[in-house]
Amino acid sequence: MKWEENVRRVVPYTPGEQPKKAGIIKLNTNENPYPPAPGVAKAAAGLSAEKFRLYPEFPEQTELAKALAARYHIGTDRLFIGVGSDDVLSMAFLTFFHSDRPVFFPDITYSFYDVWADVYRIPYERKALDADFRICPADYCQPNGGVVFPNPNAPTGVRMPLDKVEEIAAANRDVVVIVDEAYIDFGGTSALPLIDKYDNLLVVQTFSKSRSMAGMRIGYAMGQPALIRYLNDVKYSVNSYTMNTAALELGAAAMQDEAYFEACCKKIMATRARAEERLSGLGFVFQKSSANFIFASHKTMPAREIFERLKENDIYVRWWDKERIDNYLRITIGTDEQMEALYRALDEICG
Ligand code: PMP
Repeated sequence: MKWEENVRRVVPYTPGEQPKKAGIIKLNTNENPYPPAPGVAKAAAGLSAEKFRLYPEFPEQTELAKALAARYHIGTDRLFIGVGSDDVLSMAFLTFFHSDRPVFFPDITYSFYDVWADVYRIPYERKALDADFRICPADYCQPNGGVVFPNPNAPTGVRMPLDKVEEIAAANRDVVVIVDEAYIDFGGTSALPLIDKYDNLLVVQTFSKSRSMAGMRIGYAMGQPALIRYLNDVKYSVNSYTMNTAALELGAAAMQDEAYFEACCKKIMATRARAEERLSGLGFVFQKSSANFIFASHKTMPAREIFERLKENDIYVRWWDKERIDNYLRITIGTDEQMEALYRALDEICG
């Protein structure tokens, strides 16, 4: 077909499976196994369809923005809100990575980064993690068109101490450095306090993991007002109304219950500590995780085989057929009951 010559062709990101089957144990997409704060269900029940007649409010003027600004002790002029952190990151790529020099990110990392770079025609270079899956800051201190990395990194779960994050921000004052903190609430140290010092630093977080709201699609970025203004200029040049009314209201409701949020994160971290013991006992090896998942390799059995056998048992974890990581499974931390079922299955498969 002739018109195909004029098509923007891309290889899309492949998200983890979302199987419809009832009764499966889903440990494959880093969702939170616990429901959102109780106030969210209440707010959902109180949503008035009449409100849907109107376009939504602009996110930066909403209760959600006010609640986030209060929680993080910043002005709303330092906050950008989007449809999950995927939307925020995608807009940030489009806005800030506009150089002939390559953008740097790790070789093992969130697999959406190279997809956005490809779709926006941004040159990039992957920097190899060390043998213990750590990011080497020195690799990011050569001339580049911008830097992006998750902290803790995904799918490894390995965190970077704040002084190393600062080293990267400080070495790259001429470009924007994006720290993707999707998993920060499970034991990492946020780079947020550094945004006052570094006008080139953008910190991105999400409601999808620690706030149990992946389905509502809420993410946000925090940085100095100039960064936020540039982000908004691009966003309002693509789609003025990205956030819908329901998400804005339910997100605000989630922010009202800090105690629930903290208890949930604590529970997941406690389950993760037990998972480390149990998985070690079952012959798995892994780096210490600061996220709501463990990236593990078995001493004798290939990851692919375990992945497939678990699936036959209706337990879904994530496996990638990719260089360097094809002998690893990424196992999301579920409830204690879900994890017990996982250990029982693993005991049969590779115990
Ligand atoms: N960053 C990282 C590192 C992730 O693993 C994910 C989850 N797939 C995201 C960002 C995007 O999450 P969301 O769009 O749900 O906020």
